[in-house]
Order: sequence, then C-alpha cells, then structure tokens
Amino acid sequence: MRNWAGNIDLGTARVARPESVDELRRIVAGSERVRALGARHSFSGILAGAGDFVRLDGLPPTVDIDSVARTARVTAGMRYAEVAEALHRAGFALANLASLPDVTVAGAIATGTHGSGDTVGSLATAVVGLELVGPEGDLAERHRDVDKDDFAGLVVALGVLGIVTKVTLEIEPSFEVAQSVRVRVPLEEVRARFNDVSGAAYSVSVFTKWDDYANLWLKRRTDRPATDLELGKAADGPLNPVPGTDPAPCTAQLGVPGPWHERLPHIRFGTTPRLGDELQSEYFLPRSAVPTAIAALRGLRGILGPALHVGEVRTVSGDDLWLSPAYEQDSVTFHFTWIRDAIRVWPVIAAVEEVLLPLGARPHWAKLTAMTRDAILSVYRRAADFRELRQKADPDGKFGNDFIEELFS
Ligand SMILES: Cc1cc2nc3c(=O)[nH]c(=O)nc-3n(C[C@H](O)[C@H](O)[C@H](O)COP(=O)(O)OP(=O)(O)OC[C@H]3O[C@@H](n4cnc5c(N)ncnc54)[C@H](O)[C@@H]3O)c2cc1C
Repeated sequence: MRNWAGNIDLGTARVARPESVDELRRIVAGSERVRALGARHSFSGILAGAGDFVRLDGLPPTVDIDSVARTARVTAGMRYAEVAEALHRAGFALANLASLPDVTVAGAIATGTHGSGDTVGSLATAVVGLELVGPEGDLAERHRDVDKDDFAGLVVALGVLGIVTKVTLEIEPSFEVAQSVRVRVPLEEVRARFNDVSGAAYSVSVFTKWDDYANLWLKRRTDRPATDLELGKAADGPLNPVPGTDPAPCTAQLGVPGPWHERLPHIRFGTTPRLGDELQSEYFLPRSAVPTAIAALRGLRGILGPALHVGEVRTVSGDDLWLSPAYEQDSVTFHFTWIRDAIRVWPVIAAVEEVLLPLGARPHWAKLTAMTRDAILSVYRRAADFRELRQKADPDGKFGNDFIEELFS
C-alpha cells in the first residue's frame, strides 16, 4: 500500500475499516500502535505507520447542519467534495477549499491544508468542535468555546492526539464564484504589486515556472465588488494550471459564475488520476518576505524549470492554531509541484530551502522538506506546548510514527 503519489511505502500493516464508532473504539483500544488514513494525499512521513492503520470511510457519512449556530457537524473521514455537495444543497458553504476536493476533512485539517485568499484562513480555522477516540478507546468531545486552553493545539494535530471521528465546521450562506485566468503576467509586476495581485479577488493563485511570466487564477465572489487588474491578458479558453496540459479536469473558467464548491478548487472532484505523477513541497512565509522570495526563486529558475511541473503562490490569513504554518502570521505560500523523480528533485528542494529558510519559511506538514527537526521546531513557538498536550493525551505514543517521534518524543 502506498500514498497517492506513490513515494511512501505504507507497508503491509493491517488496515481496519470500522463501520461504527464503537467498532473503531474497540480497534484502537486493542492496538499497540495505530494511525488513521485519510485519502492518502500526503507526501511526507506524516502518513507513515508504525503498527495498524484505520480508515474511516466505513463510518456512516453524515452532515448535520445547525442553521442557527451556522455550523455543520460532519463525519471526519468524508471528502470535502461530499461535504460541500450536502452543504450547497442546504444553502450553505465553507469559506474555502483546497486545490482539489478529494481530500478528507480530518486528513486536511490535521496538516494545516489551505486554499488561497487574503481574508481566509486554512481549512482548519473553520473547525469549532472535534469528536475523537483516545488511546484507550475513550470517546471525547472538544469544543473551541469550552476547551479554551488547548483547543488551538488540537486541530492541526498531525494525527497524534487521537482518531478524529466528527468535525464541527463553521459555515456561511452559499455563494457563487466566477473564475477567470490572466496569462503572460510579467513576474516582475507580480513582485512589485503583490498586494494588488493577491487582493484582486476572493481567492487568487499565481502559477509560474519562475521564468519571466505568471498566469493568475482569479476567483471572484459574485456577491462582492469586482476589482480591476489589468495585468497580462485574459485567457481566451480554459487552461490547466500546469502549462500545456489538458484543462478537462479543471473547474469552469472564463468568468462563468457557479457554486462556490465548483470554482474554489482548481480541479474537479474525482478527475485527478488515482496515482499522481508528481511530488510536492510548500513553504509559508510572512507577507513582508514576498519581494525577496520572488527575486530569490527567479534566481534559481535555471534549476527549478526542469524539475517543476509548475509553482504556485497563494495567500492564507494568520490563525491561532499552535502547529498551523500560518500561526500568528498572515502568510504567502510558495508551492512546488515537482516531477516525480526524487533523485533530481531533492537537490532542488535543498536549494529552495537555502533561500527561503532565512526568510522564516515554515514547511507544509504534508509535503516534502529537507529541513532538520531543530529547524522545523524553531519556527513553531508553541511546539513545546504541543509536546505537553501529546504527553497528556497519549502518554504511550500509541498514535505516533517515526516522523512524529523525531519531532515530539
Ligand atoms: C493533488 C494534490 C493537491 C493538493 N492540494 C493541496 C492544497 O491545495 N492545499 C494544501 O494545503 N495541501 C494540498 N495537498 C496536500 C493535502 O491537502 C494534504 O496532504 C492533506 O493532509 C491530505 O488529506 P488526506 O485526506 O489525504 O489525509 P492523509 O494524507 O491520508 O493523512 C494526513 C494526516 O492526517 C491524519 N489523519 C487522517 N485522518 C485522520 C483522522 N480521522 N483522525 C486523526 N488523524 C487523521 C493522518 O494520520 C496523517 O497524519 C494536496 C495534495 C495532493 C496530492
């Protein structure tokens, strides 16, 4: 068994697929070490096991909407696409989605997964409540308004504080989005006018191979005033973010309005290949670092170009979640979709980190990094508090693996 990209061997561990929370509780209580699997879209050692695995897609999928509280309590192993469909049918929406909606709610929030938008946080910032199974098979309910001291440590938790079975998410009334693409935007203009670029729509992605140009994906909410951005020129047909590839799997463009969940992701549900032909890395930087980071990455274009399918720059607003890469910092994320050739890609990752680390880069938990344990922990002010939380929640490390032990044992 492997992850989606095929770069992590998950071994031949036992994978249980419980059909009820009680069955899950018995499995957890009876395991020496166990980790949950989501859609297996992570690229890093965070996904590796150390004993048994459980997958939660056998639990009944439910989306219980409280329209007064503006929340939805959902089965944690559901994919965002399924949750989004149910919410939209009932007239509600989530503030944001990742670039593809195939990931599970629990798997995405555990790693700080994000979309883009100056005014929107990562997907984990929508979480107000969690139900989770602890190491003895105990079932706990945690809520942001009740567990004030440590709730912020429980959400982006890398799968180590328990198996999450239900997630309560903040929702809002459904909205429409019109997506358009501007092509051949000089990268120098993006660097010089980054605030105008990232503020030009509700959600903006800058795609580039770090040569002279970028393409801008602008996702405008139709219920908010439009901003003009006369950079580059409007695309005259649908495009794939990866230059020269088929746009068929992509969400509708050319400014045609549609429901939020059919525009915010770049890729339509279920249209990505079952196994990916790519590796990924990503770094969160403070917004003030953008001009220097763009100039530094342009300086690496000679080695980036051959190793990249494409790069993407997005924005994420800061939050208070201890292990969130956007912790207390409005962030700009620099993402790299690499070719699936680890031998060629690792030296390029090291070169990228050499220029981004001094700027305060925090790596995405689910993606590849060559950063050392100390370098990673040094950018998380609450790392010691998280270690203490883990010690209390799971003193014997039942939910750990090598990646976690190296960081937090
Ligand atoms: C094609 C592609 C596009 C992507 N786009 C984006 C993007 O736009 N933005 C972004 O930020 N990231 C993106 N990612 C990364 C992806 O969002 C993360 O890897 C995310 O964690 C994947 O969710 P998953 O359901 O596959 O979880 P998995 O990869 O299966 O698991 C991730 C972690 O969550 C834990 N976990 C899973 N379920 C539970 C549970 N029930 N209880 C406790 N812990 C659990 C696992 O143990 C593991 O530690 C992308 C990845 C791919 C392959």
